Amino acid sequence: MQREIEAGEGAFSRIFLELTAGLRRWALRTEVWQRGKWRGAVLSASGVDVGTLIGAADVREIIENVIARNVGLIKDVSQQAQGRITDAVFRGLNQRLPARDVAREIRQAVDMSQRRAMGIASHQLSDISNRLADERRREGGLDTWMWIHSAKKHPRAEHLARNGKEYTDETASTDRPGSLPFCGCRSRAVLVSV
Ligand SMILES: [Zn+2]
Repeated sequence: MQREIEAGEGAFSRIFLELTAGLRRWALRTEVWQRGKWRGAVLSASGVDVGTLIGAADVREIIENVIARNVGLIKDVSQQAQGRITDAVFRGLNQRLPARDVAREIRQAVDMSQRRAMGIASHQLSDISNRLADERRREGGLDTWMWIHSAKKHPRAEHLARNGKEYTDETASTDRPGSLPFCGCRSRAVLVSV
């Protein structure tokens, strides 16, 4: 039995390493995609191609932060799943439960961690996109941005009320577009004529 549990733990740490590598690829790909979007937006708004002026190096700190935080979140999810699986196995042994009952509990623990991981992933995607967009905007010397509502079915009323309003980092509230769970709001850089 101990051997089984150790094998399970080994599988978890392998999955964890793969996830961490996947997370890095995902963050870097998201940055390339976001940079392309920003380049296109600046080009169509001002006719200036900033393609050679901006690069991944400018936002390395943000990317490393996002990766580190996500590694922590995944570690937490997989530790919880490991705990649940170990509990299910020991309960099964103590109470002499049929193997299929134990198997079902293990599956539930895995499903639960998968759902939590999906929730985390979708939130992190909007979070990294917003952080990168903010950084590109600041880099471009643009202070003003517009709150773009998520258009989700059950929006936060105060976010809906902010839709289309213009803010700067000084005038905005502390919860920024996309920063709260399941928010989905975005910010859009505003060109202010001077
Ligand atoms: Zn929102």
